[in-house]
Amino acid sequence: MEVKIGSTKLILTIGDITESETESIVNAANSTCMGGAGVDGAIHSKGGPQILQECIKIRKTLYPDGLPPGEAVITTGGNLKAKYVIHTVGPICNGPLTKHQKQILKNAYQNSLKLALEKNIKSISFPSISTGAYRCDVKVASKIALKAVIDFLKQNPNKLDLVAFVLFTPEIYQVYKTSLEEILNANIND
Ligand code: ADP
Repeated sequence: MEVKIGSTKLILTIGDITESETESIVNAANSTCMGGAGVDGAIHSKGGPQILQECIKIRKTLYPDGLPPGEAVITTGGNLKAKYVIHTVGPICNGPLTKHQKQILKNAYQNSLKLALEKNIKSISFPSISTGAYRCDVKVASKIALKAVIDFLKQNPNKLDLVAFVLFTPEIYQVYKTSLEEILNANIND
């Protein structure tokens, strides 16, 4: 599914984010920023050791106590097609999200986008942050994710060419697609 938010293309697609050809991809990292399971593990294993080296440097300088949930940092993409990896940390849930968890998830998306703009990046791919090992409800998380991105694009027009959600399974893709349709319909009826 593809829509336009101002001049930016917003795309939902099924796939493996480590294969994404956007200039940057976002990693659903954990606070250690040192790799982990799921999409995090896939990014580090395909991107190679240079990503971890830069993460270690970031931990030593910027975040000695770990990357706080909702914040984002940037490293090289190493051997990936993407030039940069933006690492962010979503909330840990158990099903539906609390108000606080929703805010952290929104921050994770918007701080990643902010960092992309600071680096003059034109295209970015997101995974479905916090809906794997961090067990947040996909339906609720998808609405937060899409609204966070759409709001950001409306507040920062003509900066990004492409924002893609690269969703790992057809089931997750379908949830995001329905959520996007609901958000767009609600906006029309505003
Ligand atoms: P979190 O800890 O934030 O929940 P996970 O990596 O466990 O992060 O899961 C986040 C989402 O990423 C899940 O929907 C999972 O299916 C998906 N995922 C796992 N591997 C990949 C990949 N290579 N590309 C895109 N999405 C992936």
